Amino acid sequence: MDTSGVDHVRIFDTTLRDGEQAPGCTMTLEEKLEVARQLARLKVDIIEAGFPAASPGDWAAVHEIAREVGTPDGPVIAALARANSGDIDKAWTAIQPAAKKRIHTFMSTSDIHLEHQFRKTREQALVLIRDMVTYARSLCEDVEFSPMDAGRTDPAYLREAVAVAVAAGATTLNIPDTVGYLTPDEYGAMIRDLYENVPGIENCILSTHCHDDLGVAVANSLAGVRNGARQVECTINGIGERAGNASLEEVVMAIHTRGQFYGAQTQIETQELARSSRLVSSFIGVPVPPNKAIVGANAFAHESGIHQDGVLKHRQTYEIMSAETVGLDGNELVLGKHSGRHAFRNKLHAMGIELENEEEFQHIFTRFKELCDRKKRVDDRDIEALVAGERQHTHELYKLEHVQYTSGSGLIPTATIRLIDPDGRVRTDSSQGTGPVDAIYQAINRVVQRPNELIEFAINAITEGLDAVAEVTVRIREQGVPGGNGGART
Ligand SMILES: [Zn+2]
Repeated sequence: MDTSGVDHVRIFDTTLRDGEQAPGCTMTLEEKLEVARQLARLKVDIIEAGFPAASPGDWAAVHEIAREVGTPDGPVIAALARANSGDIDKAWTAIQPAAKKRIHTFMSTSDIHLEHQFRKTREQALVLIRDMVTYARSLCEDVEFSPMDAGRTDPAYLREAVAVAVAAGATTLNIPDTVGYLTPDEYGAMIRDLYENVPGIENCILSTHCHDDLGVAVANSLAGVRNGARQVECTINGIGERAGNASLEEVVMAIHTRGQFYGAQTQIETQELARSSRLVSSFIGVPVPPNKAIVGANAFAHESGIHQDGVLKHRQTYEIMSAETVGLDGNELVLGKHSGRHAFRNKLHAMGIELENEEEFQHIFTRFKELCDRKKRVDDRDIEALVAGERQHTHELYKLEHVQYTSGSGLIPTATIRLIDPDGRVRTDSSQGTGPVDAIYQAINRVVQRPNELIEFAINAITEGLDAVAEVTVRIREQGVPGGNGGART
């Protein structure tokens, strides 16, 4: 048995694939690239960049991430493919530019999926697994196979399916609890059973992939690690289908804090966790709950008097890890309104923010100066919001010139809006609504004449205090189709 690296748990991030395909989590190509760059800074071992067969846009995103982030000392770039040669070819061409590439192919093995979704017998599925893993392996040295819905698969048949994939050349065997059904004990036992009973598995990596339908995705993943798994598939903030995937930051910090118990470590730069969380949250417009473990705003806040007293005397009385370790210490900017371009440029560089060109830098620097006039304390979170806000304005069609509204108890919410259209004409209109925000959007609708409906409007403060910078999420639905997140920042 290969003992080199048995203690190393690989972190396979699927934020850009399993996470991004969840409703409301769609990201643009630029946003995906930005997330991939941050994942590389976080030092994840593998980035699953997408599902290239899904659409030409997905293929292009995977290709671009492979080209830019898949450097020789960067992460492995993986792409997902169903068990057919067309999908596998698309995955293979998309990851071409990466120095380290992985094809990840999957096929269901539970009777309920085989019978009702794939209409295949168990024997037919085994042939397909053998043929498609063999084909993927003929292209790529690094092949991952997932028996989908492993959690509800007959254990004897699961062993058989995994053994077929191993014999066909799969190097990583990922065991998904696709529907989030198992308990930690059951999931751990399933991993152990495969580890002990599949011929050749000792030369492969066993991997976990758990969903959070019953709130135990992280617990199940950790049970997998306890029982021999050396790769965990997870997403930033636990985003993903339905209740989501195992949360990367929770898995990483559990192993970091209890390394001896798990007999393992990851290579993650934990100080980058908070920033990764904020970046994904702002791109998809889904705020992180304040009580969220590891990255929530209150995750390190001690409120009760007894706890505060203890922490002041000796931090470890009530703290098992520090806010600094996960990068939540604020990293307050020592810059202020008197700071010059040079200091600001150095700060951006230290934060790993790469700007397109000098023009973008000038814009952001101007916004930074404006912010310093209004806000006493400017920290990393403000800078991230400035940069993200500036980048979102690249596709501006209409320019807002003026907005006015009346509202109050007993008044009919009414708004007047003045926009400059793409041809430079000034357009003004008014409307009533169910509230001031709805009235504003109704007035905008009258100007742009694209029938749509406002389905979400949320303001989320990024920092503390009355002068806080906030992020605004606006979601509209056009003829029943929900649009992406039109986040904006004020
Ligand atoms: Zn999944």
